[in-house]
Amino acid sequence: MTTDVIVIGAGTMGSMALWHAARRGLAAVGIEQFAPGHDRGSGHGESRMTRTAYFEGPEYVPLIQAALPLWRELEAEAGAELLTMTGGLMIGPPAGELVSGALRSARAHGLACEVLGPAEAAARFPQHRLAADEVALWEEGAGVLRPERAIRAAAGRAVALGAELVTGVRVTAIEADAGGVAVRAGGTVYRARRAIVCAGPWLGRLLPDLGLPLTVERQVMAWFPAADPSAFAPDRFPVFVHDRAGRPAAYGLPALDGATAKVAIHHGGRLADPDAVDRAVTEADTAPAAAFVAQTMPGLTPAVARSAVCLYTNTPDLHFLVGAAGPPNVTVVSACSGHGFKFAPVMGEVAVDLAVDGRTRHDVAGFSPARFAASGRVSPG
Ligand SMILES: Cc1cc2nc3c(=O)[nH]c(=O)nc-3n(C[C@H](O)[C@H](O)[C@H](O)COP(=O)(O)OP(=O)(O)OC[C@H]3O[C@@H](n4cnc5c(N)ncnc54)[C@H](O)[C@@H]3O)c2cc1C
Repeated sequence: MTTDVIVIGAGTMGSMALWHAARRGLAAVGIEQFAPGHDRGSGHGESRMTRTAYFEGPEYVPLIQAALPLWRELEAEAGAELLTMTGGLMIGPPAGELVSGALRSARAHGLACEVLGPAEAAARFPQHRLAADEVALWEEGAGVLRPERAIRAAAGRAVALGAELVTGVRVTAIEADAGGVAVRAGGTVYRARRAIVCAGPWLGRLLPDLGLPLTVERQVMAWFPAADPSAFAPDRFPVFVHDRAGRPAAYGLPALDGATAKVAIHHGGRLADPDAVDRAVTEADTAPAAAFVAQTMPGLTPAVARSAVCLYTNTPDLHFLVGAAGPPNVTVVSACSGHGFKFAPVMGEVAVDLAVDGRTRHDVAGFSPARFAASGRVSPG
């Protein structure tokens, strides 16, 4: 049987693309250098935030709204809990990028939200300490996702629906050939009509000729003990982002282990080589999050209980990279700049739509790799 599509990378985006390809009845092969749910890329660390009033831009909102039911479909198919709605708090100065951006998205899309002043926020969410000039934008459409479980669920469903998944093998080349594409991996050449590349932090290494202006950034996550764990449980502690005027924002997620809440700093990490990441976490790595906890989260002890290193793959504008790039018949879905997980099931659908149909009903035009072509750095396929 001729393979319709090869998906390179079965991490966050690739596992979802493989799932969608299999759901469409395509003959699909996934190739993953490790195994689904591994801890060396971007899709691990117990929890991921989803939120709908998206400060990064109202254009993301329809994609989130499309992703949410897909998360529920994957849960139902896999019989696994992947998404717990908690609501969300965007905290910061009202005119800051976070609060004003979230409000703009909420208004543009008629999303239910409330702006709480410091006193009201303290009464309803005493886990946070707000400065006098800060507000908290509360939105209902936010929650916590389970990344490793979700990736394994999507990959597992893909295989159950007939996809082949090759693990422990690294793709070393993607070339055009008469039938579409030839993909070299572990001494084997896999041929298919099309390829979808979801290589995350390894994208620049896999397709160096594109000259994509990507950076891989080391990120440290830390978990802090809660004095009263029930106050940080998902039913009482919404996911949050806290805009810290001029410094990288802090964010946090509820205690999923019944003891510790995750708090980390968004960006501000050092550049990394995905094949040589320093995974030893030092006190200096966690000091910014610990200081934030000490200042603003009275119910948490600012002593790190556990920590982990993960990778962001950033574009210069911090928007995604989705579309044709490189050899003909190759679609890239990657470089989610530290905020892509929540979109994964819809991005998987988009990837298959673009690869197979050449178009998608979802608006992803703003993520085209061609936007970097003006600088002469990308040659879109
Ligand atoms: C600390 C941290 C916190 C985050 N928090 C959030 C959040 O709260 N909400 C949110 O929406 N997003 C969040 N993100 C971002 C989100 O997790 C990423 O955008 C997303 O996981 C990126 O998925 P990906 O598929 O591009 O990369 P990955 O999940 O890393 O997948 C890439 C896969 O490709 C494989 N691969 C690469 N090269 C090859 C090759 N040559 N051959 C075979 N296989 C290959 C890799 O092994 C890997 O499995 C966070 C990220 C980090 C690091």
